[in-house]
Amino acid sequence: MKIKDLARENIWNLKPYSSARDEFSGSVKIQLDANENPFDNGLNRYPDPYQNELKSVLSEIKGVEIKNMILGNGSDELIDMLIRSFCEPRIDNILTVRPSYGMYKVSAAINDVELVEVDLNADFSLNVKALLEKVNSNTKLLMLCSPNNPSGNLLEVSAIEELLNSFNGLVVIDEAYIDFSKEISWSKRLSEYPQLVVLQTLSKFYGLASLRVGIGYASEEIVGLLNKVKPPYNVNGLSQESAIERIKNQKERNRLLESILNERTRLNQFLKASKLVQTVLPSDTNFLLVKFTDAERVYIALKDLGIVVRNRSNEPLCNNCLRITIGTPAENQELMNQLKRLK
Ligand SMILES: *Cc1c(COP(=O)(O)O)cnc(C)c1O
Repeated sequence: MKIKDLARENIWNLKPYSSARDEFSGSVKIQLDANENPFDNGLNRYPDPYQNELKSVLSEIKGVEIKNMILGNGSDELIDMLIRSFCEPRIDNILTVRPSYGMYKVSAAINDVELVEVDLNADFSLNVKALLEKVNSNTKLLMLCSPNNPSGNLLEVSAIEELLNSFNGLVVIDEAYIDFSKEISWSKRLSEYPQLVVLQTLSKFYGLASLRVGIGYASEEIVGLLNKVKPPYNVNGLSQESAIERIKNQKERNRLLESILNERTRLNQFLKASKLVQTVLPSDTNFLLVKFTDAERVYIALKDLGIVVRNRSNEPLCNNCLRITIGTPAENQELMNQLKRLK
């Protein structure tokens, strides 16, 4: 399988916009090539279109080479870029699972690309056979989310390997929650699978949702193609600077991770013992999917008390399920106190 044959022809042949910073990127005394305002206020220059400084910090933390990275304005932008680059509107299709992250459906719809959904098994594991049965010659992307949102579980490595070995298209694994898991990232296996794309984000574990920085890992060929499609300055200068500053503090981050994981255990134990709850799903993320006997009633009662959780009851396999993000210890305590009072 060749990336050239998977990509949309117009994108493969695209001559990308060439910015002033593409044509000259060294440092000089006088810069009169980009129609910027010359008066220095700290923000008057265009940012690095390839975010090399931020990528080099990320590369060190993540152990993936810069040439295999592309950054997006959130990973949501990368999802859209992948669809636009590989799926011909009204002709190609994307395969994914239900329930999973809602943006796959929205991004596919915006691009007028069909999304084919296959239900996960009752335990939220992959149904490889059912997925492969849905593949046709126009299936360009397989979108998977592991650990999965909203179920919180990792998808089995062996099942994903089987899909990677059988499916002749791009396999995208969204790892927005991988930092909360002990499992190693699929980004470590790019050299084995040239059609693999891995997405991560600074929005969850790194606590930088407001900056809008998503990370894509893929072969140089795929990264090169996506670089042609991305808006030249898709990650703004303040976000780049701020991300570089903040992600360096590993020690503090590990401390916060420990708190979230401890709290996840504490909340899990409490919920499992609660009379309102049927089951709590095992989680490799910073949230719990909880099956209540009457989710709607609990949802409304909590909302009236000023605590909002996500009602996922209308998602397939999620009847009576609420998705609860792990908060600070005080927030979780308050949630537990209120649930205790609910009769
Ligand atoms: C939150 C989330 C994202 C969003 O990431 P951004 O980088 O903030 O756009 C992507 N995928 C999944 C599965 C998520 O839950």
